[in-house]
Amino acid sequence: MSSAKPRNDDLAKATAMLAKLVAFDTTSRNSNLAFIDAVRELLAAHGIESRLVHNDDGTKANLLATVGPMVEGGIVLSGHTDVVPVDDQKWLSDPFTLVERDGRLYGRGTADMKSFLAVILSALDRMQAAKLKVPLHFAFTYDEEVGCLGAPSLIRFLQAELPAPGAVIVGEPTEMKVVTAHKGITAMRTTVTGHEAHSSQPHRGVSAVMVAAELISFLQGLAQEAATSGPRNPLFEPPHTTITVNRIEGGTALNILARHCTFQWDVRALPEDDAESYINRFQSHCREAVLPRIRTIAADCDIQTMARTPTPPLKMMARSKAEEICRALTGDNATRAVSFAAEAGQFQGAGLPTVICGPGSIRQAHQPNEYIDIEQLAAGARFIRDLIAHASK
Ligand SMILES: [Zn+2]
Repeated sequence: MSSAKPRNDDLAKATAMLAKLVAFDTTSRNSNLAFIDAVRELLAAHGIESRLVHNDDGTKANLLATVGPMVEGGIVLSGHTDVVPVDDQKWLSDPFTLVERDGRLYGRGTADMKSFLAVILSALDRMQAAKLKVPLHFAFTYDEEVGCLGAPSLIRFLQAELPAPGAVIVGEPTEMKVVTAHKGITAMRTTVTGHEAHSSQPHRGVSAVMVAAELISFLQGLAQEAATSGPRNPLFEPPHTTITVNRIEGGTALNILARHCTFQWDVRALPEDDAESYINRFQSHCREAVLPRIRTIAADCDIQTMARTPTPPLKMMARSKAEEICRALTGDNATRAVSFAAEAGQFQGAGLPTVICGPGSIRQAHQPNEYIDIEQLAAGARFIRDLIAHASK
């Protein structure tokens, strides 16, 4: 790659590392083991031991590694290895080849969030040369993009195996700003079972699609209520809990009252709100208002709602160790919250002081032609350099 401006060494190394990491197609539906093996080999070449925590079928792994003394008060640098799909997106260049254009580096994962992993992994020599007083732990996960599924087992392993860390930095893209709160997500799947009949005879059957439409409109009412009279927190955009339905399928033919309809919805709750209260109201509405009515037409009608394991919110806490370190290193003293969910709430839930702070912008995440500004990658590299100095004091 070429650049008009001469680059400092750290940035050149981070860029080369990012190119390597982007080249792995770690879309969440794929195994991340090739990626993890490459990271493990790189660490091993530096004499750093990695430990893996696999998923149940052994097709994916989290990685945990430590540089520095095995003492308490270490700093966990956490990032996910998976990326979102590029399907149906229009890319101007191969998403898995890092390409530089106009002061930006393009490629899937450049913003979310392989750049954070790249600034860490390109600074191993510096970490090892430094006299670290507290350790730097690397906690790299799988399946963040499909519900933060990898982090819980890694967090349990980390707590069992490591001297208690003092801080966790989750390097999701915040343009190196210090974020101390994020919303939680509870994802739900509701399946309506109706009763088939000719569509000219609606009194003899139940259209699952029409019942689903009714339930979705109930959720729309809850969403409006959350927006107008629920808890508010102006640090979030939007400043309230949201409820949306984003997938639906059902029915067999135009002239048959539908037997099945399934829709998926999510509650993205402010840390100070309670996602359960909305879900409970939805469930009672199904149980008390809708089910009895449709069962008078056909006893086999049903409504089932299943929740995926919720991703807990990151709650703002009185100045934590993690916050203190990141504020000192970045100079950012504003109070910030983000609406996307991340693994930070899971680390905090395990009692670890956690913030989100990483290079790149969430505006480019999940987009076609995802990129990171080269200046952001440089800022990330400076942050790691300063963090190493901080951990050596
Ligand atoms: Zn991410």
